[in-house]
Amino acid sequence: MSDEIRKYSNGDVTILWQAHLCQHSTICWKGLIQVFNPKNRPWINMDGATTERIIDQVKKCPSGALSIDKNSDSSD
Ligand code: SF4
Repeated sequence: MSDEIRKYSNGDVTILWQAHLCQHSTICWKGLIQVFNPKNRPWINMDGATTERIIDQVKKCPSGALSIDKNSDSSD
């Protein structure tokens, strides 16, 4: 149940969220509260920043709870 993967997309990139991996390091929401706000539902707002900025922040997640859906990443 808790290991479900949620997806959030802005039509350009899709973020994968795996709650069971989150270490609550707070890095994501301290770095980009406009997108990652645990007080909101859903807690990820893909309209809060540019795709580039969102990807940059996701890459800083130390646990792998946040990741980029490779199928949506055309920059590779
Ligand atoms: S950066 Fe990653 S580990 Fe830290 S709170 Fe955000 S999702 Fe969780």
